[in-house]
Amino acid sequence: MSFLFRDQSSPHLGEYLKKRTLLILPIGTTEEHGPHLPVDTDARIAEAYGTRLATALVPEMPVLLLDTIRYGYSLKIMRQWPGTIIIRSRVFMDMVFDLCRSLLDMGFEKLAILDCHGGHGGPLNTVSRELCDATDKAVAIINPFVMAKDEFNAVRKSPAGGALHGCEFETSLVLHISPEVVDMSKATDVDHFLYHSDFVAGDNCMGKQRVTWSSWYIQPTKTGAYGDPTVATAEMGKLIMDAAVANGARFLREYCSNGGQQ
Ligand SMILES: [Zn+2]
Repeated sequence: MSFLFRDQSSPHLGEYLKKRTLLILPIGTTEEHGPHLPVDTDARIAEAYGTRLATALVPEMPVLLLDTIRYGYSLKIMRQWPGTIIIRSRVFMDMVFDLCRSLLDMGFEKLAILDCHGGHGGPLNTVSRELCDATDKAVAIINPFVMAKDEFNAVRKSPAGGALHGCEFETSLVLHISPEVVDMSKATDVDHFLYHSDFVAGDNCMGKQRVTWSSWYIQPTKTGAYGDPTVATAEMGKLIMDAAVANGARFLREYCSNGGQQ
């Protein structure tokens, strides 16, 4: 039996509605990720993460996986490299809002968004609050960077500044998911993020960001990437994915057994 939302007939979805089903909505984007990774890196990670989470949870609870949103909001500065598609932030937010509202108004109670693109944190947080106001239901937002942070940091090869964009973290994940689209001969560490301070996190997994200040305006990048992809491996990618799935599934069990209409 498929767990894809799009594979269900309308009566099937009616059955799922009676079973307190968890919906999973992966969101990535399409933007340049340096010379060695495909432009759909975030969307590819989002889709794989959604599939793995649904596969892990389906034996114990009703789950439906929605199609991945593959386009979103990126900074204009990234347009200097081909492949960056920009949906204006408000258009993106309106689309996610309408999509989620349709599902919640349909009667689903539990909806988890997988946030797999660095630029979407703020917009998705705001949309989740607006959905609370509109539907009296709370969606959850999960970010694989955060979910796998401790496990990644325990064994990472790059020092602080090595895991931002097209980096050790993302390159390892894509090497694990689909190695055929990665060209490691083009990977370089020239854009390791070198700025360190008590206020700016070293990278997405290192330290705590205490201020908002985009790395794109602190240290210019030559390749369109930030960090060190040269030390990335498929084994590290598997470790990250396994950790993100285990922790994500643990949280989703908790999310589904608390709150909302029983
Ligand atoms: Zn990315």
